[in-house]
Amino acid sequence: MDQKDKDLIDQTVDDTKDDEYEDVCYVCKRRESQAGKMIHMPHNISICNDCMQRTFDSMAGMPGFSGTEGFPGMEGFNLGDLFSGKGSTDGTGPRISFVNMADLQNMQGQTKLKKKKPKEAGDKPLIDIKDIPAPHKIEAKLSEYVVGQEHAKKVMSVAVYNHYKRVASSMDDDGVEIQKSNMLMIGPTGCGKTYIVKTLAKLLDVPLAIADATSLTEAGYIGDDIESILSKLLAAADNDVERAEHGIVFVDEIDKLAKKKNANQRDVSGESVQQGMLKLLEGAEIEVPVGATSKNAMVPMTTIDTTNILFICGGAFPGLEEIIKERLNEHSSVGFIADLKDKYDEEDDIFHYATTEDIRKYGMIPEFIGRLPVMFSLKELSEEMLVRILKEPKNAIIRQYQKLLALDEVDLQFEDDALLLIAKRAKEKGVGARALRSVIEEFMLDIMYEVPKDDNIGKVTITKAYIEGTGGPLIEMRGQKRIHAEPVDMIDN
Ligand code: ADP
Repeated sequence: MDQKDKDLIDQTVDDTKDDEYEDVCYVCKRRESQAGKMIHMPHNISICNDCMQRTFDSMAGMPGFSGTEGFPGMEGFNLGDLFSGKGSTDGTGPRISFVNMADLQNMQGQTKLKKKKPKEAGDKPLIDIKDIPAPHKIEAKLSEYVVGQEHAKKVMSVAVYNHYKRVASSMDDDGVEIQKSNMLMIGPTGCGKTYIVKTLAKLLDVPLAIADATSLTEAGYIGDDIESILSKLLAAADNDVERAEHGIVFVDEIDKLAKKKNANQRDVSGESVQQGMLKLLEGAEIEVPVGATSKNAMVPMTTIDTTNILFICGGAFPGLEEIIKERLNEHSSVGFIADLKDKYDEEDDIFHYATTEDIRKYGMIPEFIGRLPVMFSLKELSEEMLVRILKEPKNAIIRQYQKLLALDEVDLQFEDDALLLIAKRAKEKGVGARALRSVIEEFMLDIMYEVPKDDNIGKVTITKAYIEGTGGPLIEMRGQKRIHAEPVDMIDN
């Protein structure tokens, strides 16, 4: 078989693999189904016949040309600008920026969109009203992974159930439109906000995009455009627009978008991002760059309808406690209950009392809050909860260690006191459950290093003394009685 035959076979294999995807023209952004056969160039760049022809025509008439009618986004395009790198960041120039070959290489293979399937009778809808598990079932499944946070799990199960029922029922036309159940979750860092959303998306088998509000800026400024959130969702849905339109978007650190107090500069990353997100939250058709985080003439675009995308915003809202307490104390200082003035100072779950008014005072604009009708809080994790997180969830940390050692046929156990001490150490770090892993890893390093050395070890028990650094773990040999190992030198930190 000569090289030519091999190339032909490779091409055929590629073609069958890409059967479900279609090319998008780099210049006019039309799909192959609209623009006709594409001309393929290196780095997965495809250009439609029309654009290629125009390019050649315009080359003849260099340095400038104006024959761009009918090409969306190309008005005012001037090849001279392309070479000089003059972009559109000031909003006045043509919508084209200098081509960066590195960008093109990074985008290889990510710029194809899944073909829209023609609707056939008997096709299974993406979301079937009969398939959505009832809220109590969603909650029970969540509880297998997420410890505590009962209120949050209940609220989310109901909201998600209602959301997908709304999506499924929007097809029948009875005039009653159910409002979107976008959510706002308030809770300290490491209490499981991201984890609940991730678990939920996995359980429901819908694509999930996690975005960080701190990296978002108004269009045209350094940072990610707001539409980049949807690009991430599209990528999570394997570039299948229809699947992405039923996905979940989690925007973390939403509190960082609060209006800056006494700001005398243009606030490009706070309030204006809130403004920019309004359209997304409400439901609109948004032009989204495929495979990139910002719009650019060389990036293909697609339209995503956000009406059925569930938006969940989360944030720690540091300082909100003061606003809530102030309001609660104001009420309690009126009339004969005035003596209870500092009743809420000792309250450990103060976020539970948060209202939309408090969030507005914090700096979120009313239109933004209004589009997140389901608001709830998560509790700070107590030591007992941290112990439960260590051992109860399906993929609990100590279960993972046990599984690893079980592969060496060693039984690993933890004394309850030892777990409590680990939880205490983790809590001191003040970053919630996130600290558990680093604390336990510090103690398990020596165990994971030493135990496989000796084939006779059958069981290891982690004791409180070992965590304290005053003793060693309890080692039992196969078929022998238990012995206490020597204390191991731990690295102090
Ligand atoms: P944040 O609230 O800051 O988004 P995360 O959800 O990222 O915190 O939590 C960090 C890690 O801590 C998670 O990956 C998860 O393993 C663990 N975790 C946090 N809260 C819980 C919980 N309630 N139940 C089980 N694991 C949890």
